[in-house]
Amino acid sequence: MKIIICGGGITGLSTYLYLRKHLPGTNRVTLYESHRPRIDNVEGPLTSPYPHQAILNLDRLSASTALVGGRLGISPNGMRVLRDLSGDLHDRVIAQGFPAEKFVFKGANGWTLGVQSTSDKAVRAQNDHAEVCIASSRHGLWQTILRYAQETYGGGVVRYRKVVTVERMQSGGIEVRSIDENGNEEADEADLVIGADGVKSVVRKALFGDEPRCQPSYTLRINRELPHWANKGLVLIGDAAHAMDPTTGQGASQALEDSQTLALLLGELFKDSRDVGPVAATVEIAIEQLHQIRAPRIHAIVQRGKKLAGRKVNIGVIAEYFMYFFLWLLNRSPTLGNHALTQFPRCYTNFVKGKIVLGDVNQELYTWSAADEVKKAQAPGVAKICARST
Ligand SMILES: Cc1cc2nc3c(=O)[nH]c(=O)nc-3n(C[C@H](O)[C@H](O)[C@H](O)COP(=O)(O)OP(=O)(O)OC[C@H]3O[C@@H](n4cnc5c(N)ncnc54)[C@H](O)[C@@H]3O)c2cc1C
Repeated sequence: MKIIICGGGITGLSTYLYLRKHLPGTNRVTLYESHRPRIDNVEGPLTSPYPHQAILNLDRLSASTALVGGRLGISPNGMRVLRDLSGDLHDRVIAQGFPAEKFVFKGANGWTLGVQSTSDKAVRAQNDHAEVCIASSRHGLWQTILRYAQETYGGGVVRYRKVVTVERMQSGGIEVRSIDENGNEEADEADLVIGADGVKSVVRKALFGDEPRCQPSYTLRINRELPHWANKGLVLIGDAAHAMDPTTGQGASQALEDSQTLALLLGELFKDSRDVGPVAATVEIAIEQLHQIRAPRIHAIVQRGKKLAGRKVNIGVIAEYFMYFFLWLLNRSPTLGNHALTQFPRCYTNFVKGKIVLGDVNQELYTWSAADEVKKAQAPGVAKICARST
């Protein structure tokens, strides 16, 4: 099987690594990225004593035009995916960022209203390693994954070419046309094309054309919920499928979960090549199942993000101090705070309820397992029946 990944951001690179880990070596994986990182061309010594923090040298950073994005948090669920991918990569990501062990909630006047641990310890088995949220620059996370991929699989992991068109051919394969920095065009062919090319995805255009309901909101840099993510050998993952409001704090972590799920699905289906149907039919099962598994989780996170974003509103002084009081009460005695909430009008308590809900949110976020979901989706019989009937 030949696979092409369009886009070498966090999603594309982690997908490359995951596919190399779970697919037999006979499968070929090519990754196209339109932007060559220019930071490595900046001259001058590295002053950081830590190799993985070298990119945080401010002189080097300001001399580069290659930096995209600000900071982000990789939640325990995202860190767990990285650990599953490679313990070494997981540790490098921690080394280049820093652990954000607690979220501190502050009022507009600077008062500390509450402190919440980011650890997933409460939902893990006793002998299981707990993760905390790792704060990182988007660039630092991306470059750490890129360096790891290059060290593991060689400098040629990324082909620096911009994908210009993606088209199905009559033969059943998919043609990907790309250009290099000098404008030289080239055509490549694959059984599966993975769109990890972000909000302005070329692969999404190949799937949906100019259909208005499938266009992203460029100003907000988020995607509208798409009716599906895959069809006939094309599949979208990461921001190309579901760029989220930053309020969710889950963009990178969900992208990592997409990569893991897709690779597990393909790995399971292609593990015994004597047992699978034609490649195209088997690919179709994997990419269909990816949407079935991932879409409900993404939907829930997006909806929760919308609710929380809606709560960040200006309120009057009295309401503000009521809110501070309840948050304070809630942190000291959750039961009492919960009870007191029922005694007050909704407008005063909406924001506070958002805080209560966070506990459950973490439970949901941190206990989800791609491996369990893939096992359920590929319970004996189900996948093979589909493979024969497609
Ligand atoms: C302001 C902001 C704050 C955020 N905060 C958080 C946070 O706190 N926590 C969190 O987890 N996430 C956060 N995110 C989201 C996170 O950065 C992304 O979800 C994550 O980086 C996954 O992105 P991606 O790789 O799918 O897409 P991108 O990062 O957009 O990467 C796409 C890649 O594809 C390449 N590409 C595009 N078109 C082509 C083409 N035609 N041919 C070849 N290559 C192409 C691009 O150059 C790029 O390298 C935030 C995002 C923003 C904008």
